[in-house]
Amino acid sequence: MPNRKNKLGHMENHRDFRFEKFGCPRCKSKKMIRFAWDSGAELECTECGERFDEEDLLTIDDPSNILTVKEKLAFIRAFKESD
Ligand SMILES: [Zn+2]
Repeated sequence: MPNRKNKLGHMENHRDFRFEKFGCPRCKSKKMIRFAWDSGAELECTECGERFDEEDLLTIDDPSNILTVKEKLAFIRAFKESD
C-alpha cells in the first residue's frame, strides 16, 4: 500500500517530471512545448496542436477533465453571451 502523503510531497518536488510522465492529455504525446508569461504558462502539443494551461496539467489528475485553452475560451465566451 503506497503512502499517500509521501506521494503528494514527491509530486510537488518534481513538477516538471509530471509533464514527461503524462504528456498531452489528448494524444498522450510527450512532445510538449512550454510557453511562459508573467501570469502563467501554457503547453502546446506538437502532435495534435492543442494548448493547455500548465496549472491545469499540474492540478487536475484526470486528463479527461483537462480542457484545452480553446475550449476554455469558448466556454467563457458562451457564459458571457448568456449574461
Ligand atoms: Zn496532443
